[in-house]
Amino acid sequence: MSDLAGRPAVLGLPFDGASSFLRGPASAPSAIRRVLHAGSANYWSELGIEVDPADWDDLGDLDLSDSAAEAIEPIAAAVAELRRAGRPVLSLGGDHFVTYPILRGLAAAGDRVTIVHVDAHPDLYDELDGDRLSHACPFARIMEEGLAERLIQFGIRTTTGHQREQIERFGVECFEVRTWDGSVPEIDGPVYVTIDVDGLDPAYAPGVSHHEPGGLTTREVLDVLHTLHGRGVEVVGADVVEVNPDRDIHDMTAMVGAKFVRELLALMR
Ligand code: MN
Ligand code: MN
Repeated sequence: MSDLAGRPAVLGLPFDGASSFLRGPASAPSAIRRVLHAGSANYWSELGIEVDPADWDDLGDLDLSDSAAEAIEPIAAAVAELRRAGRPVLSLGGDHFVTYPILRGLAAAGDRVTIVHVDAHPDLYDELDGDRLSHACPFARIMEEGLAERLIQFGIRTTTGHQREQIERFGVECFEVRTWDGSVPEIDGPVYVTIDVDGLDPAYAPGVSHHEPGGLTTREVLDVLHTLHGRGVEVVGADVVEVNPDRDIHDMTAMVGAKFVRELLALMR
């Protein structure tokens, strides 16, 4: 542990080389930072906790190539180093591929986490178009490699037959929007939160590559986060992924991302 233990670190991951449909999320870290610091909102989370930039460190963007295979090691190494120093890590994607190397880094540092995952998609494909590192596959890799204790999904509304088999195979707790009652299961131990903003309805988050109608409200996602806080859950890491500034309208979706950043930083304090 270092003297920075407990102090949140923010890491930009400007990578969209694993996106299957559109590029764009590589520019999300800078878009989210811009609106976070634009002065239109203050730095207080809804929980009554101020996340003043003086109390956390933005480490800037990792220098990543366009190859997912080549991005695994630098992402995992950066996250592992921060976790070994006892620091919570909030990553700004990037497409959802990045969560796989992040979890490798957590596991290398000894974290045994439950993943709380918001997404329209289960992202459990064994492969997509022959690509096992596609942004549609990260949770298949994570569960195969035993990088998480549990995977709990919210916002899901695109499940295929194959992905239902994967949910069964890996014991994923998948709460599809169609039948979700708003509750969050009890969780023991540390948590990693991953928010793919396409889990929200496109009405709330239009700046994403895959518009999937029928999603969560911003408030429902905030409720999940605040429920974790209310239970005193330890959040050791989190990411906000799949914001696509090329598709955004007046930075609306970047602002949703910035809102989640503020609330997640509050959960890490
Ligand atoms: Mn996803
Ligand atoms: Mn998605």
